[in-house]
Amino acid sequence: MFDLDGTLLDSDAALLAAFEANGVAIEDVTYGHAVAAEAERLGLTLDAYESAYDTDAATPFPGIDELLAVLPRWAVCSNKHPRSAVAEFERLGWRPEVACFADSFDWEHKRLGPVLDLLGVSADRVLMVGDTTGDLVVAEEVGCAYAWAGWNPRTAAERPDGVVLARPADLLGLLGGGLVDR
Ligand SMILES: [Mg+2]
Repeated sequence: MFDLDGTLLDSDAALLAAFEANGVAIEDVTYGHAVAAEAERLGLTLDAYESAYDTDAATPFPGIDELLAVLPRWAVCSNKHPRSAVAEFERLGWRPEVACFADSFDWEHKRLGPVLDLLGVSADRVLMVGDTTGDLVVAEEVGCAYAWAGWNPRTAAERPDGVVLARPADLLGLLGGGLVDR
């Protein structure tokens, strides 16, 4: 189970650009929140933010495409606006088994429970990978394993507690090690 922005996609610059285009100082932007809540906090409408977001700008982190190509099952749980997320998935040719975005959670912060229900798997068979504390919190809420996307320099610099993956391919070692059956 993956977060999208900052985990699969190197999207910090694209997100900042959309806020900056709306007059927000980039140092005021934070990561990992429901998109509607962050837009409101920064004083703009969700539509204004979403209209300014360039869905052609963000690229996958190195090694992500190779990882996704060999995972037998993967899903995405993201706070992102579905319009931009779906456009990016189409551009990148990504086909997760299940993908839930901000609209799946009534524009509140995402939760893993509904995504696990759609997958038909229990939390003890899932590993969540994310780049912000919100990702860790939703994993802890359902009791699934968690690893940090340490390939994101912003996340690595925070030196979080727990499992920090240096490269996407390192995830295969965790899965093969029996944490989750493949
Ligand atoms: Mg993220």
